[in-house]
Amino acid sequence: MSGASWVLVLNSGSSSVKYQLLDMATERRLAAGIVERIGEEGGAGDHAEALRRAATDLKERGFGLDSPELAAVGHRVVHGGTRFTRPTLVTDEVLAGIEDLVPLAPLHNPANVTGIKVARELRPDLPQVAVFDTAFHATIPEAAARYAIDTEVADRFGIRRYGFHGTSHAYVSRATAALLGREPADVNVIVLHLGNGASASAVRGGVCVDTSMGLTPLEGLVMGTRSGDVDPAVIFHLERVGGMGTDEIDTLLNKRSGLLGLCGANDMREIGRRMGEGDAAAQTAFEVYVHRLRRYVGAFTAVLGRVDAVAFTAGVGENSAAVRAAAMADLEGLGMVVDPVRNAVRSSAARLVSPDGSRVAVAVVPTDEELEIARDTYALAR
Ligand code: ADP
Repeated sequence: MSGASWVLVLNSGSSSVKYQLLDMATERRLAAGIVERIGEEGGAGDHAEALRRAATDLKERGFGLDSPELAAVGHRVVHGGTRFTRPTLVTDEVLAGIEDLVPLAPLHNPANVTGIKVARELRPDLPQVAVFDTAFHATIPEAAARYAIDTEVADRFGIRRYGFHGTSHAYVSRATAALLGREPADVNVIVLHLGNGASASAVRGGVCVDTSMGLTPLEGLVMGTRSGDVDPAVIFHLERVGGMGTDEIDTLLNKRSGLLGLCGANDMREIGRRMGEGDAAAQTAFEVYVHRLRRYVGAFTAVLGRVDAVAFTAGVGENSAAVRAAAMADLEGLGMVVDPVRNAVRSSAARLVSPDGSRVAVAVVPTDEELEIARDTYALAR
């Protein structure tokens, strides 16, 4: 495979498969697509069929997966537990290890496992690489990773803070250093990944030292449909007083909470529109979202001690000037200032939104999880 330089990146979710083909000789994106509604009417029957559809689509665009140019397949895997802390070449044993982690990520890891199995059948000759969403957070010190519960119980059930969106936090923290013209080892960055899912991380000198998501991607920031932090007693209360079952509460907190639960919409664009029309629920949702974000900015400022940059990324972070302005308002005391003119600029490039000479650089840094996965995959496959 000396000359082969294509990498196929697969992100197999519970009901969709996103795919991208990149040429790593140039890091150029050759093709990208998504197969949605797996298992639903009008969608693909299962993950195997979804992947075949992806392969057909790529073939029609001139990028057959039977090509000798294809060097490897990179898979996004959500949960690596404590066992997988770096990109890993898939073997039968590794696959079994990812399956062992299903109880920690029941919605995600099974789809990831299926994606790997199908891709292996498609091209058994190729290296398959698993890139874990948790891996970048493996460096978080014990003080931040441990929950203050009975150690014996916690260890028996693997309960600790793992963190997620790791490929994004890794990519964005490095890209932020590059934007500042400095080495990752020399800068401390707070990364705010604000998409449908949302998480914050504190990165000291290129090494992650804290993150807002925990055992699962439910903890931390207010998200599109997830509550983020709640008092755990809310759950007992819903059980004892509300008569709700475990699965019902799981659905409530993961799918019917966050922005959606607060105002009936989970898209920040719609919330902005409704706020413009004087919708009080939308206003409250925005304020709860921003308040939580500011708490984490403050907390991670204390964790890092010195902050060189705050980086906004993902759908909301890259596009919502209103969220960025509100999140950074009145934080001059922390050295964080947003220039309204710079903040209003729409661009797909990494850029500063703080005034020149600010103590802390406030930046918008578009994430690229697929490129990060492709880089990890290519490096390992070679
Ligand atoms: P995912 O977590 O699914 O990858 P994204 O990072 O693509 O999500 O973020 C999706 C979210 O980004 C949308 O739900 C929406 O709230 C937000 N978003 C996208 N475009 C804009 C925009 N122009 N203004 C405000 N919010 C936006």
